[in-house]
Amino acid sequence: MSQLALHQQLSWQEVLAATPMDSAELCNLLALELDCLPAAHPLLKQFPLRVPAPYLKRIEKGNPADPLLLQIFPGTEEALSTPGFSLDPVGESEANPKPGILHKYKGRALLLVTSSCAIHCRYCFRRHFPYEDNNPGKEHWRESLAYLKQDSSITEVILSGGDPLTLPDKYLAWFMAELADISHIRRIRIHTRLPIMIPQRITPDLCKLLANPRFQTILVIHSNHAQEFDDEVDAACLALKKAGITLLNQSVLLKHINDSSEALVALSERLFEAGVLPYYLHLLDRVSGAAHFDVPAETGIELIRELRAQLPGYLVPKLVREIPGQKAKTPVG
Ligand SMILES: *Cc1c(COP(=O)(O)O)cnc(C)c1O
Ligand code: SF4
Repeated sequence: MSQLALHQQLSWQEVLAATPMDSAELCNLLALELDCLPAAHPLLKQFPLRVPAPYLKRIEKGNPADPLLLQIFPGTEEALSTPGFSLDPVGESEANPKPGILHKYKGRALLLVTSSCAIHCRYCFRRHFPYEDNNPGKEHWRESLAYLKQDSSITEVILSGGDPLTLPDKYLAWFMAELADISHIRRIRIHTRLPIMIPQRITPDLCKLLANPRFQTILVIHSNHAQEFDDEVDAACLALKKAGITLLNQSVLLKHINDSSEALVALSERLFEAGVLPYYLHLLDRVSGAAHFDVPAETGIELIRELRAQLPGYLVPKLVREIPGQKAKTPVG
């Protein structure tokens, strides 16, 4: 069996444990010569190459422009510094009432429950986030829960990170049980790339745990391109849907990855085939090291206009950007 097919025999924990990779190995597997940051570069040390096997096998061999490859490949352009691109582009450090919790918007609080991810997306706005202070463990989780408890205006809790589904079930179960005791919380929302990255993470046990009748549960998967889907991803989404979980998608508009109406139409249609509705299309948060992904707002507006002309309204995502200090994501166009 080939190295890339092997993952189907493994547990999700084993696939997750095997995600760190060096760029030489990546180039080798994909039969490519790429212009990578040197392994000892501080940017790569701080935010290493990380890619899960199920995603890796959807990348086309020998194609340096593959839209999945471009999301994970640490190229030398990350080292360029570009005016207007900063370390904390969304002002998170200011909305951090306690370590591990962000409360920026009315009714919704976001918990950073882990700093781990199954994949390192090179455009990630949290790539420089001070995770050491926000990877709290149970001690600080209790403080976050106390914060949620004392503010009855919070009706929705968003589990984020990192990727919350990299946590073992027993931690998620603990969270769900603690949150269930706070009567004003009605919705749990989980932002995760795991159904795409490691579809076997969506086990029957996890579905049962998430389908807690005490809440409405929403899973926001983060997919940027139709090619990220295959039968395994479809099966994971179907299992979640059967458990009564609402599935939404948010994407980031990324240069050379999905900045064409063809790519975005294909993504919306593919999402719907998997039972997922498009939610947001984000303009890139201008984080340093990611300038090569940036698409101008005007292009985004034009693309959304084209989507409206080609798709039913429910398949057109909302184009938004995050402006620090605003009370919600800001609609664009
Ligand atoms: C994006 C975000 C939310 C969720 O916003 P929605 O518009 O409800 O999707 C909540 N809290 C924080 C801190 C966020 O960045
Ligand atoms: S999965 Fe999300 S948090 Fe993790 S690196 Fe990718 S975009 Fe960032």
